[in-house]
This record gives sequence, C-alpha cells and structure tokens, in this order.
Amino acid sequence: MSVSVRIVLIVIIGCGITVQKESEKGEPSIKPSIAIVGAGISGLSTARRLIELGIDDFDIYEGLDRIGGRIHAIPYKDGFLQMGAQFINGAENPLYKIANRLGLIADVVSDTAHVDNAHFAFGNQNVREEDIKTFLDFTSKLDPKYRSIAKHDEKTARRYTFKEIFTLDYMHFLKTQNFTETQKNVFDSLARSFRSYWEFEWAADWSTLSVHVLKEWNDYGPECESFATNRIGFKGILDDIAAPIPRNAFNFNSRVENINLNSNTGKIQLTVNDHLVPTEYDYVIVTSSLGVLKKYHHMMFTPPLPRQKIEAIEKIGFGGSCKVFFEWDQPFWSNNTYSIAPLPVRGMISDKLDAFEEETTILQVVDWAPNVLSAWYAGRGHQLVDNMSEEELKQRMTRLMREMYNDNGIPPPSKIIRTQLTKNELLLGSYSYMTQVQALSHISHSQLAIPVKLEGRPKIMFAGEATHHRLFQTTIGGYLSGRREADRAVNDWFGTRYGFNQTNKTEMEDVSLINEKRNVPYISQPITSI
Ligand SMILES: Cc1cc2nc3c(=O)[nH]c(=O)nc-3n(C[C@H](O)[C@H](O)[C@H](O)COP(=O)(O)OP(=O)(O)OC[C@H]3O[C@@H](n4cnc5c(N)ncnc54)[C@H](O)[C@@H]3O)c2cc1C
Repeated sequence: MSVSVRIVLIVIIGCGITVQKESEKGEPSIKPSIAIVGAGISGLSTARRLIELGIDDFDIYEGLDRIGGRIHAIPYKDGFLQMGAQFINGAENPLYKIANRLGLIADVVSDTAHVDNAHFAFGNQNVREEDIKTFLDFTSKLDPKYRSIAKHDEKTARRYTFKEIFTLDYMHFLKTQNFTETQKNVFDSLARSFRSYWEFEWAADWSTLSVHVLKEWNDYGPECESFATNRIGFKGILDDIAAPIPRNAFNFNSRVENINLNSNTGKIQLTVNDHLVPTEYDYVIVTSSLGVLKKYHHMMFTPPLPRQKIEAIEKIGFGGSCKVFFEWDQPFWSNNTYSIAPLPVRGMISDKLDAFEEETTILQVVDWAPNVLSAWYAGRGHQLVDNMSEEELKQRMTRLMREMYNDNGIPPPSKIIRTQLTKNELLLGSYSYMTQVQALSHISHSQLAIPVKLEGRPKIMFAGEATHHRLFQTTIGGYLSGRREADRAVNDWFGTRYGFNQTNKTEMEDVSLINEKRNVPYISQPITSI
C-alpha cells in the first residue's frame, strides 16, 4: 500500500463521484481496504456510497442472517408487516425520494392520528363521553405548548422531562374544577394514552425523556406529520439501496467481537465469531445500534474507546418501542375503526390495574390487512411484552378486549407476530432518544459520530441513526450517516494523501451548516479528534 500515486482523476457523475487513479509507474491503482460492521440501513448506505465513490471492494460483517437490522419486514398475505420502520419523516430527504420514485408512499399522516381517531373502548364501565372530551381538550393544547417551550425557553426544556412537565400541567388541570374521584380515575386512564403517545414517538420512558428533544430533532418538514408507506414499505426501500452492492461483500451470521487498531501500523484487525480475520483494514465503519455499543463497547474496541465517546454512549438514551401484531380470523371491531384505545379505569374494572392493562393503550388497524391489529408498546411496556410468552399475551389481550367491548364471545387472536427486539443481542432495543442527563450535559447525538483517530486520521468510524445530530431515531438519519462516513473514509484516503478534495455537498457540511444556522454552540463538531 506504499506505492506513490501521482494523479487522481475525479469524475463527478450525477450526485456521486467516481475516483480513478493512475500511478507514476503505471502500477495498479490503490484503494483502501474497508470493513463495515452491520447491514442495517446505515451499513447499506455506507456500502452504496463507497460504490458511488469508485470503491467496490469492501467487506460487510452482519451478525444476523439478513439485511435491514431494525428495519424488518415480515411477509404477510400480499404485503409485509413492518416490525420496525414504517413512516418517513418529511419530504426533504433522500429516503422520501427513493420511496416516492418506487411508489411506496401511501399517505400523509399526523403523528397523533391514532389517538385523534381512536375508538375509546371501556365496556360497561361508567365512563362518560363528556369526561373524555374534557380531557382531550386539555391535552390538545399541550403538544404545541411543549414545542413552544423547546423553541423559546431552552433552559426549561433542558431541565424538564416530559413526565415532570406533564405532571405539573395535570395537577393544575385537576385543580381547575371540582372533579369527582370517579372523573379523576377516568382522567388517569386517559393520561396513560397521552404518556404512550410520547413514549411511542420517542421510544423512551417519559420519566427520562428531555423536552429539549423537540428542538434538537428536526426533519425540516411540517411539525407532527410524516408519510406512511404502503404494504411493501421499507422492504422496497431496503432492496433498492442494497441492489448495487455485490453479494460477495456480505458476510452474514458474522458477529464482530473485537476491533483492534494497531497504533504502529495503523491497520485494523477484526475478531469475528471468535476468529481473527486475516485482512488488515485501513478503515472500519461501525453501525451497531447504540444499545449494542452501550452493552458491548468495552469488549468491542482495542484499545478502549476515548472517554468522551464513552460518556456520549452512556448518556444518550436508547429506548424501547415495538409493535406486536395480533391477527384475528374475523375482526370483532367495526369496519370504520382506525384504532382502538382500551380504557380500563381503576376503581371500575378493578381496584388496581396491572402492568399489561396500563401499557396496552393503542391498537391500530392495519389498513391493508383489516383483520390485524398492531399494538404499540413503549417505555417500560416494551420490556414487559418482550418478557411475556405468546400464550400469555394471547390470554391477556383476549381478556382485555372482552372486558373493553363487554363481549365474552370475542375469540383469542389466531396469531401473534412480534420480534422481541430487547432480547436480540445484535439490536437490543428500538432507537435512540435524548435523555434529561444528556440535555443537561449539552451532549449532542453528533458526539457519537466522532471517529477514533490515529495521528489525526480517522480509522474507526461510527454511523447509525444514533450518530445523526438532527434525525437520530430515524432511517433517514441512518442513511445519511452511512454516506457521511463513506465520504469521510474516502476523503481521508485520497484527500489527505493525494490532495483529493471532495466537491459535492456532504452530510459533514450539513452538520456544520445546521449548527451554524441554529446557533447551537455546544454541539461538538463531529469531524474533530477526541
Ligand atoms: C418498532 C420500530 C418502529 C420504527 N419506526 C420507524 C419509522 O416509522 N420511521 C423511521 O424512519 N424509523 C423508524 N424506526 C427506527 C429505524 O428502524 C432505525 O432508526 C434504523 O433502522 C436504524 O438503522 P441502523 O442501520 O442505524 O441500525 P440497525 O438497523 O440496528 O443496523 C445495525 C446492524 O448491525 C448489526 N450488528 C450490530 N452489532 C454487530 C456486530 N458486533 N457484528 C456484526 N453485526 C452487528 C445488527 O444486526 C444490525 O443489522 C423504528 C424502529 C423500531 C424498532
């Protein structure tokens, strides 16, 4: 790899760049050896970008036996049940463009549609519709209020979690009128739906979720709105991104246990499934989820990661939000049902509600499979259902539906389709969020993107949804971060050594631009060394 190269020809094709080289003595061109850890959307977009940049020889190590990671589309009838990503946040991003080109966008939806259009099911409990309305009037003002706090009162936003700020508002609401104990119990049940809305949205227990997330996260689109994909959805998007990647680049069922950077040679060696891989890499791009990094970083990296990186790994949140699909042979709900909000009330159905009753707050009808309900569980609900057996889930759901529909004839669901993300050692949860401790420490998600450097040059790089400064959580953030790190490697290899300067607009520029535009001085620039 020490052959001198004189001329670097840069051919810009469309939005991509192809790099051709010619050595002084006509030796074969030299390209860096690159390994990618993970074949989720970030790993695939890294690979895709490398190909655009003229590098088609790289290795992808994926612990699972499939691509997609947290995007997981399971075939069902004439479509796919999306266990993971299903919506696209905004139109100002490349994933929307891919989905639109492939005809995969079904609809524009409000983030609150499942609550706004819910059928509140409370069986023969003495719940009055006007009490539901009173509560929904109260909560309808909170979303805009919290967004306004996040925008205009940064100190308060950083200081409070959603649970804390809601509790203050809720106490105030209860004091405004002389509500009866029964009414308060109904409001408590409805407050669970409100909690779940935030917890689903941000995959977080709301007692740790910072209000500041509403400022930090930004898809540049209208607030509270996203695009729903159709019955093919992310299966189509993933296949499209993966299409040009050579099949022999993929090593499935290959878990990377250790990434060892040799400080003398600058080369990186991987231990995969207990074996040292003979190839020595110039760059390794890690796309493991933040959950995996939290649990395994101390074993995965030699030497250990720098202190600042570990601090970011520890303080940035990684939470739970999952879907459990319940199939019935025939729907027991009416044809025009959009979603069902079961409303067991303490003091009515029983003196004390159990965790399953408290966490089952929304079941949404799958529009193209109307005999299937998608139940969303988030926060502590995710762990709860992951720890339940299928039989237990079936029994508990049947009992709840019979009580809430006051109909003992409702049969048990015929099938349950779920993935138990928290139990998958290669994923370990759903997506990242902003914790209160992170907001108070002024740590941006972009801190996770800072590469491990040797003599000022990036060696081990980090992509993945959790590394994106404004679109963390999302497939878009994952996609953009993969391209960012491919650019970083190629820029370093050709730019530093051979005067190659990238000319297209990259995610790296996007990061600094946004920080400048939003005047957020604390965001650490992701391209500095630690
Ligand atoms: C229920 C749910 C709903 C969601 N809904 C949406 C949505 O509507 N819209 C949206 O945009 N996003 C959504 N998301 C989030 C989105 O799915 C993720 O942000 C995105 O898929 C993350 O991609 P990634 O490539 O960064 O990480 P991953 O998908 O986790 O990919 C990383 C890959 O690395 C592999 N890996 C990890 N460690 C190792 C190792 N040591 N060795 C080898 N392989 C390893 C993993 O197996 C995995 O395949 C949702 C997620 C969930 C769970």
